[in-house]
Amino acid sequence: MRMNRMNRMNRRQLRMVRIVPFLFLIFIISGTIVAFGDNFSGKEEKMAPIAAAQPEKPRQEEPVVNKPAVIQPSPKKIFYDGPSEGKKVALTFDDGPDSIATPKILDILKKNNIKATFFIIGTQAKAHPDMVRRIEKEGHAIGNHSWSHPHFDKIPTEEALKQIDDAQEELKSIVGYYPSIVRPPYGALSKEEEKAIHGKGMDIIDWSVDTTDWSGAPTDEIMTLIHKELYPGGIILQHCSGGKDHLSNTIEALKQLIPDLTNQGYTFVTVPELLNLPDKLPD
Ligand SMILES: [Zn+2]
Repeated sequence: MRMNRMNRMNRRQLRMVRIVPFLFLIFIISGTIVAFGDNFSGKEEKMAPIAAAQPEKPRQEEPVVNKPAVIQPSPKKIFYDGPSEGKKVALTFDDGPDSIATPKILDILKKNNIKATFFIIGTQAKAHPDMVRRIEKEGHAIGNHSWSHPHFDKIPTEEALKQIDDAQEELKSIVGYYPSIVRPPYGALSKEEEKAIHGKGMDIIDWSVDTTDWSGAPTDEIMTLIHKELYPGGIILQHCSGGKDHLSNTIEALKQLIPDLTNQGYTFVTVPELLNLPDKLPD
């Protein structure tokens, strides 16, 4: 009996000993499955915020994408002349208007049905608004020549820009539009000012023939300079205010150069026509 009991116990223990590794194996396998499951669900949670953050990325990059559209390299430059095709020439008259030389010049241009370009000083426009209106009414182009004719390369950029802005406002109040072209006094300009003027959408106009008429140069000297230096597409610099003897030599030279250049096959055009530029800026 005792032996039987012992045998039974041993058999039970033996069965247990066999079962334990099997249970242990099951425990390990189930544990691994749970651990994997946890890891997998953990990955999803980690991925979820990444996936949620992705749509924000384009929003953060939006300003960067927009930047190239704002900072366009300016195609503008300083014009000294125009294309040679068509043998055109642009007459330009600076520093006016006044009530002595300007009307005489306008009379000659009108008589010959020639359109020219007047680079006007703000203070002169304010003093002679009727003459500015006449220039505009008779079909000539109007350009900005600063408010009071300082050397732009000797004053701060902000001051130079104010000179242009003040003249623009004065001209707009008289003729009803902002001119698109500017000639800095003496052709003097810093690189920074050049960029800022182009940034306003304005074109900078210099010249290819300086007649030196303001100094009182004799008429034949003015004519010699024009014959020597003019080529098709040229821009001639003269004045319509100030200078010696109220520019009597300029006026006499104008009477001579019109038939002279016409005989040479030249056509007289305004600066915006010569360079194919708009003559007005949008408001
Ligand atoms: Zn000038």
